[in-house]
Amino acid sequence: MADIKCKLLVVGAGPGGYVCAIRAAGLGVDTVIIEDQAPGGTCLNVGCIPSKALIHAADEFHRLSLANTGNSFGITTAQPTLDFTQTIRWKDGIVDKLNNGVTGLLRKSGAKLINGRAEFIDGKTVRVHGSDSTTSTVACENVVIATGSKAVELPTVPFGGAVISSSGALSLSDVPESLAVVGGGYIGLELGTAFAKLGTRVMVIEAAASVLPQYDTDLTKPVVKRLAELGIEVLTGTRVTSVNGNALELQRADGESQSFTAGKILVTVGRVPELQRCAVDELKLTMDGAYIAIDSRCQTSMRGVFAIGDVTGEPMLAHRAMAQGQLVAEVVAGQNRTWDKQCIPSVCFTDPEIVTVGLSTAQALQADYEVTVGMFPLQANGRAMTMECDTGFVRVVAEKNSGVLLGVQAVGQHVSELSAAFALAIEMGACAEDIAATVHAHPTIGESFAEACMQVTGTALHI
Ligand code: FAD
Ligand code: NAD
Repeated sequence: MADIKCKLLVVGAGPGGYVCAIRAAGLGVDTVIIEDQAPGGTCLNVGCIPSKALIHAADEFHRLSLANTGNSFGITTAQPTLDFTQTIRWKDGIVDKLNNGVTGLLRKSGAKLINGRAEFIDGKTVRVHGSDSTTSTVACENVVIATGSKAVELPTVPFGGAVISSSGALSLSDVPESLAVVGGGYIGLELGTAFAKLGTRVMVIEAAASVLPQYDTDLTKPVVKRLAELGIEVLTGTRVTSVNGNALELQRADGESQSFTAGKILVTVGRVPELQRCAVDELKLTMDGAYIAIDSRCQTSMRGVFAIGDVTGEPMLAHRAMAQGQLVAEVVAGQNRTWDKQCIPSVCFTDPEIVTVGLSTAQALQADYEVTVGMFPLQANGRAMTMECDTGFVRVVAEKNSGVLLGVQAVGQHVSELSAAFALAIEMGACAEDIAATVHAHPTIGESFAEACMQVTGTALHI
């Protein structure tokens, strides 16, 4: 006999799991959610939120440091000082506030939060190892696997000592004097840039021929330039062959070996699904490589067993996990729902930021579209000039005959805030003409979106 019975059991209270539980309970589904850490998952505790807090603090410190020698608009400040303990305390305060927020929202929705580690017995039953050392069982009609992901560990550079993961980098007690970042992807560049702005000497070691290899060079060029301006050394086509204490042995693209000693070594070479802690193997689900295979309703190969978020593969993004969580809640509540999203925006919070939504030109051509591309440089945008951030551009990819937007890409400071407009346009099936004909407030960086669309419609004004 199970200790608790419910219609829906959610394993993991990250953005996928907690959104699923709140939505399901709100729809009247008898819901239980199990989590053995603070609610909010990777995103809230050691991911999106704390990393963006650190990036913001580092930006502010760097800006004030530059004003020490006087800036172009006439402000000179005294040399700023950094109390990093307070920076981390401030970041932890935001995390705590959001943890409490998620716990409160779950409680208010009527979902029952159990603090413990879930372990599958079968597709309808889990054993819970409670944080109070008790063991209980939960039986359910439907279960959602929302157990997220963990950092990849390199056999040549195992975690421990000077070698840290992103979680370690977000809770350091001091700003390291030097930092080697292994992996120049999202996390490596976001955190590497932040530490460089806080005064750390940073080296990025990337195995591929370029950093952020998933983006085209037009998008990454301003980021690479900025890394150099910040004094960040970037070694591409380079692998770490061994680590000894704080010393790394590197094998460069030209076959040469190189040594580098760093106070901390941050390994950010990707993330893999967290499936062991809940013993997913017991269910013998069909896998898609390392990830759990799902259909358009996030249903796995076992009836009544759903999977959402990072366990289901790329793109491993919080907002995708949330959208999947909402979908599954509605499916379990009896609604006729399938995954029908046109796009999932992604934002890389580097300096400058990169946004991609929908198809790139290469992807559109590969999908046999005839395309036309419109581009507007931020150099020609008044608001960008007034904020001293006129590096970058907004680019739209449209279907040639209809003008329907297939994709939008942008690079520049503050462009993350345009991702909503880009995604909305694509989700609504907008044509370049629709955006070009929409009155955009002046002066805003968003005008660049309309101007890029005007390039497509042949009505460009400011270029
Ligand atoms: P998770 O957030 O990983 O949550 C899974 C939860 O399940 C965890 O709380 C875990 O403790 C729990 N769990 C696991 N096993 C069990 C078990 N057996 N029993 C009970 N509980 C269990 N994404 C963005 O969209 N934007 C960003 O800016 C961004 N920045 C990031 C920065 C960093 C440094 C990192 C590491 C990630 C970042 N991400 C970002 C990615 C984002 O955090 C993930 O895509 C997102 O958290 C995935 O949500 P999820 O619900 O699938 O899993
Ligand atoms: P990533 O896939 O973005 O980057 C990993 C990088 O490491 C790649 O460039 C890869 O070529 C390189 N690499 C792989 N093996 C290597 C090796 N042995 N030596 C040197 N380089 C190596 O992975 P990540 O930065 O760890 O981030 C994981 C996931 O977290 C991302 O895919 C993303 O979905 C999510 N994330 C998103 C955001 C955001 O939305 N802003 C921020 C952080 C993380």
